[in-house]
Amino acid sequence: MASFLEGSLGRIFVVRLPTDGDLLKTIEGFAGEMGVEAGVLWVIGAVRKAVIKYYNQEEKKYSRISLNKPLEILSCIGNISKLEGKIIAHVHLVLGDKDGKTFGGHLDEGTKIFSAEMILLEVKNVVLERVYDEVTGLNLFNL
Ligand code: ZN
Repeated sequence: MASFLEGSLGRIFVVRLPTDGDLLKTIEGFAGEMGVEAGVLWVIGAVRKAVIKYYNQEEKKYSRISLNKPLEILSCIGNISKLEGKIIAHVHLVLGDKDGKTFGGHLDEGTKIFSAEMILLEVKNVVLERVYDEVTGLNLFNL
């Protein structure tokens, strides 16, 4: 049986993120500024370069992948929650290069925006906190 919370739809933000901003920090900064403590988001656009992470399930460690070239954001989805009282964004993305080759992973700091449009939906009436999970080694929703 899945564990869950039931919330309701709050504010809807349509956002143009700044060129040369750091994608992850900008998303977290915007959510923090607007007081969005739980939410879901989508971004499309392009980046000048990207840093993504892959989680190794056996070692319970992330490895980083640096992509130092212009890429399209083909798909980017994520959520907003809180970890140790801080608003954080958990974001996954698929990027495409000029040949249509794709790369994907967990968004990390160091991803530089070329252009990015975000839709952020606020989820109200829930407290979405993350806690460390021994089994996976990840900070998961505390449900
Ligand atoms: Zn992730």
